Amino acid sequence: MINAGIVTVSYIAATILFILALGGLANPETARRGNWYGVAGMTIALLATFFGVVTGNYTALLIALLIGGSIGLILAKRIQMTQMPELVAMLHSLVGLAAVLVGFASFMDPSVHLAGVDLTIHDIETYIGILIGAITLSGSVIAFGKLSGRIGGSPLTLPGRHWFNLALLLGAIWFGREFVLQSAAGGGMTPLLIMTGIALLFGIHMVMAIGGADMPVVVSMLNSYSGWAAAATGFMLNNDLLIVTGALVGSSGAILSYIMCRAMNRKFLAVIAGGFGTGGGKSVASGDIEGEVVPIDAQETAALLANAKEVMIIPGYGMAVAQAQHVVNEIAATLRARNINVRFGIHPVAGRMPGHMNVLLAEARVPYDIVFEMDEVNSDFPDVDVSMVIGANDIVNPSAQTDPDSPIAGMPVLEVWKGHTTIVLKRSMATGYAGVQNPLFFKENTRMLFGDAKETLDEVFKAL
Ligand code: NDP
Repeated sequence: MINAGIVTVSYIAATILFILALGGLANPETARRGNWYGVAGMTIALLATFFGVVTGNYTALLIALLIGGSIGLILAKRIQMTQMPELVAMLHSLVGLAAVLVGFASFMDPSVHLAGVDLTIHDIETYIGILIGAITLSGSVIAFGKLSGRIGGSPLTLPGRHWFNLALLLGAIWFGREFVLQSAAGGGMTPLLIMTGIALLFGIHMVMAIGGADMPVVVSMLNSYSGWAAAATGFMLNNDLLIVTGALVGSSGAILSYIMCRAMNRKFLAVIAGGFGTGGGKSVASGDIEGEVVPIDAQETAALLANAKEVMIIPGYGMAVAQAQHVVNEIAATLRARNINVRFGIHPVAGRMPGHMNVLLAEARVPYDIVFEMDEVNSDFPDVDVSMVIGANDIVNPSAQTDPDSPIAGMPVLEVWKGHTTIVLKRSMATGYAGVQNPLFFKENTRMLFGDAKETLDEVFKAL
């Protein structure tokens, strides 16, 4: 057992390392270092808790660490890059579950003898901790289902759903009051259990009501909730490090939600209230779109690229599925060696998680200085000779600007159709995540290169 002073110092060191980790993760060049700061901070925190805070039951703790650590390791090794968003959603649900379990444990702890104001404060902490934890738990499980395709993407729009939410909120407040009153008299378990049920229901309903195209906001929002759930657990356990870490995750998740909302031109409250996304509006059938689809082959694609001066590459979810990032990097390097200006345009919600494309391009060692945000390149398309859209769909859909009934109406998109020629790589005419047809594929200056992006790009690379 180490003394309390050392524990405090370790916690401060871990906090600083976590802040440095967040700072590092803000930029692809420093992200790796940021990760190591995070690993170091977590190791210090674990050691300090193990040797300074825990007072007994070491066998149980070691067994739990071993089981949890092994599951984490196996999952991380097995998981495909395309399944990453689901994994993140699942991990959020575990934070929620932990908050709920710690909440009940702390309520039932026979060694806690509080009275008066102290008891009330502890009860409120417990109540709020379980509330946020349960919402995070059930919401993340539904998000996992939606991201992995086990649950359909259409929003569940129950009649009177806002009243339903309001009733759940009022119920949670009412049972909170009951809980505090009954707890002072030695009881309180019933209102606590009822509230847990209400919170679980609210989490399910909240995420079910959000349509496919708005899922990015949900992912970042649940990220934020999981932080607040951890902070609430910190209050229950009187653990400063958990409070600070939870608050860091909670607030950075909230900022990310704000950024995602801005990227999709949505109001945060409107997204949470639900009903946007797939099925909220009518999706355009391909028969309604004018123009015809013109296919192209790998040789012609290579010729178009080789004769261009300005090339813009737009990666999307399909690049992740095909694992085409390495050959994309090779093609970009080949073109650049021939003095062709190649840039990457990244939409903020491309792929299935924030920063998805940046991670893939960094993995393939695409130079950071040719990777641009949407806003940095969107006005340049009239000067672009060839735009290559690799497995992207919703993020280049012009109907976001032209069809007010579209589920993605108002979402800023990369305006590739303003360039000279657009080549779209995908396997079929299937829709993207939002489930809407894309008029881009029917435009006069669009060519479709059908097939798995990795296979077709391999051929393009050979032809180059
Ligand atoms: P989309 O889902 O709109 O489109 C991806 C396209 O890739 C599909 O049309 C598919 O067409 C094609 N594709 C799939 N596999 C392959 C393959 N092996 N080779 C070639 N093409 C392939 O992706 P975008 O990136 O354009 O847009 C992201 C969407 O996901 C947005 O609607 C966004 O709101 C949503 N979303 C984003 C999240 C985030 O945080 N970034 C989180 C959750 C949702 P085909 O089947 O014909 O090949």
